[in-house]
Amino acid sequence: MPARSKLTPVDLSRWRNGNNGIDFTTTLESGRAGPHAMIMALIHGNELCGAHAITFLHEHLTQPVKGRISLALGNIAAYRRFESKNIGASRYLDEDMNRVWSGDRLEGPSNSVELRRARELRPLVDKVDFLLDLHAMENTGPPLILSGPLDRSVELARWLGTPQFIVQDAGHANGTRLRDYSNFSSNDHHHTALLIECGQREDPESARVAIDASLKFLLSLDLIRPLPSPVFQPLQPMSSQDTIQVTDAVTVDTDAFSFLTDVEGFQVIDRAGTVIARDGDRPIMTPYDSCVLVMPSREAKRGQTAVRFGHVVTG
Ligand SMILES: [Zn+2]
Repeated sequence: MPARSKLTPVDLSRWRNGNNGIDFTTTLESGRAGPHAMIMALIHGNELCGAHAITFLHEHLTQPVKGRISLALGNIAAYRRFESKNIGASRYLDEDMNRVWSGDRLEGPSNSVELRRARELRPLVDKVDFLLDLHAMENTGPPLILSGPLDRSVELARWLGTPQFIVQDAGHANGTRLRDYSNFSSNDHHHTALLIECGQREDPESARVAIDASLKFLLSLDLIRPLPSPVFQPLQPMSSQDTIQVTDAVTVDTDAFSFLTDVEGFQVIDRAGTVIARDGDRPIMTPYDSCVLVMPSREAKRGQTAVRFGHVVTG
């Protein structure tokens, strides 16, 4: 059997000089009133699906029907270091760019490659009404949307019709994600952001999922018309989507965290109190019956999220 092909980087230099003064961002204007939507890719430099999606969108989107669409590439510096033999190394250079999106960090005294890029992007992000942030996972698992805690984000995820799983979560203990930045997390605003994990980061299908989600996102907002089918064949909407409400995130405290069994994403653990992992001497137990394991990560290190616990939201 031939080895399965893996997603490879694409040349993004064509998109460097955009039209709004920030490198690697371009805003498509309709000239008509309407919302401003942004597709963001490469907040993690090694999640190539987003690079493919942004390339596709540059090549195939024309003038929006209304409002404006911004296409943005996040951690280009890390992406440039991508090596297929050491994929983990190009997630970021100095720090995780998806943990710096708070006023404290963005306006604070510290400095890093990622903070500098986030500070560059911030004036554009501040103008955006709707954001789709494209990611991919280290581990194999079905695509999922991380909607954040607000119901309006879950509603937008349902408009997309895919993927099957919508995870309603509150982010991470160790820093603020772009999805959770500012008005995206405020009840007083309409601004809405979704993070989509498009599948395993080396899987070519993740690029298709990223393109499909981007188009569905823009179609849901009535900013574009459907592309003709020879250009892109959309994924079938799910007959139903499952919303998982995350109640707990397990943050690794030691250098000796391990799962006790081969846990999988969206695996349901029937009994409360089942020990699924150990963090040093501390047993990690499911807090309630029918507990869903969300995005377990075998490689999580001290301070990172190893797994989230959730339950299926009915209705
Ligand atoms: Zn990511």
